[in-house]
Amino acid sequence: MDVKTVSIFGVTGSVGQSTEAVIASQPERFKVQAVSAHSNVERLAGQAINLKAAHAVIADEQHYGALKELLGGSGISVAAGREALLEAASMPCDVAMGAIVGFDGLLPIMRAIEQGAHVALANKEPLVAAGPLVLEAACRNNVRLLPVDSEHNAIFQVFDESQRQGIERIILTASGGPFREWSAAEMEAATPAQAVAHPNWSMGQKISVDSATLMNKALEVIEAHYLFDMPADKIDVVIHPQSVIHSMVEYADGSVLAQMGAPDMKTPIAYCLGWPDRIKTPGQRLDLNKLMRLELQPIDNNKFKSVEMAFDCLRAGPCHCVAFNAANEIAVARFLKNEIGFGDIVRIVGAIAEKTEESALNSIEAVVSFDKTVRELTSSYIDSDEFQKREMYEVHTA
Ligand code: NAD
Ligand code: MG
Repeated sequence: MDVKTVSIFGVTGSVGQSTEAVIASQPERFKVQAVSAHSNVERLAGQAINLKAAHAVIADEQHYGALKELLGGSGISVAAGREALLEAASMPCDVAMGAIVGFDGLLPIMRAIEQGAHVALANKEPLVAAGPLVLEAACRNNVRLLPVDSEHNAIFQVFDESQRQGIERIILTASGGPFREWSAAEMEAATPAQAVAHPNWSMGQKISVDSATLMNKALEVIEAHYLFDMPADKIDVVIHPQSVIHSMVEYADGSVLAQMGAPDMKTPIAYCLGWPDRIKTPGQRLDLNKLMRLELQPIDNNKFKSVEMAFDCLRAGPCHCVAFNAANEIAVARFLKNEIGFGDIVRIVGAIAEKTEESALNSIEAVVSFDKTVRELTSSYIDSDEFQKREMYEVHTA
């Protein structure tokens, strides 16, 4: 058995911890090169020791002293700061797990691709913002993007590339999030605590809010477009509250192939780490002898506007996709600080997408700079009279 060298960026998060569990369950298969986190230094140190990593990086420099102390005598080298994170991503490995949350994961992913690693990609925001450039780099360096996101992982498993002509559409499933059955007026008043309480999956805060607005599915539509080279009109979304059917591919003859499994990220993570082999996974299993109801229903696009907005952005072009993601990251952060309402998130993203104009984004630097501009625009829009008045109007007429 070949031993694979793996680096994990964002190891302290939800996907990062599931990755740790998969690797720790079969240490003979994997060797861990680098692990990174933003600021949770105690957890990072514990995971570095548990995984026998060679190198640990904390992105927030103020925790450097603590990391050095916690890993003193362990033989694990330590570093801190943004540049150190990029250097860690440049260290040779076979597979780099991209499990950072948000656009900030873009540069580490690019570095990993450039040093020749396959990238197991959970971190969808960089792909939404810079899809064409990430794909071009992967192609140039002859590496694969292995989709960790459960829907895309499902499609990856049943998408027969040799029959591409015979693929009619891909169908992403969405749980519908915690507010699937709430009224629009109830959703307006939803609190951060209610928004992060996902019925099926245990995830980081940002993606949990995205699941409640269906922005997660919206981002996944764009992610699927890039990963599978499918045009907008061949991508569909369907609500599936049980999160057992992770997604589907429909072929010309009417066959619909689905991948099913328990809602446990360890399965798609193991698929990517083991690829092209199947490996034993310490996750939840589906009990097919138990009574189980699997429901499918269309999205209520009047209540959840984000998915249609994603299709509009996809058709409008790459700048709209950058803006869609950046405005959402800012709006979600403000919502989590209780500075805007739940319903405002999608209204803000829509308003910023509307203000966006297409122009060439020919380099990663251009994407980073445009992303920054959109973030500034979104913050000042939220603080503007235009938004504050619009918000009152919308709330009173809800
Ligand atoms: P999380 O918030 O639980 O963890 C994020 C990780 O990234 C942490 O280790 C954190 O320290 C690190 N991080 C955050 N900001 C950083 C920065 N600026 N620089 C460096 N490191 C930083 O998030 P998560 O739920 O594990 O999600 C991670 C990514 O995977 C997201 O893009 C999410 O959309 C995607 N994803 C998550 C799940 C899931 O089940 N959680 C499923 C599919 C896709
Ligand atoms: Mg997903």
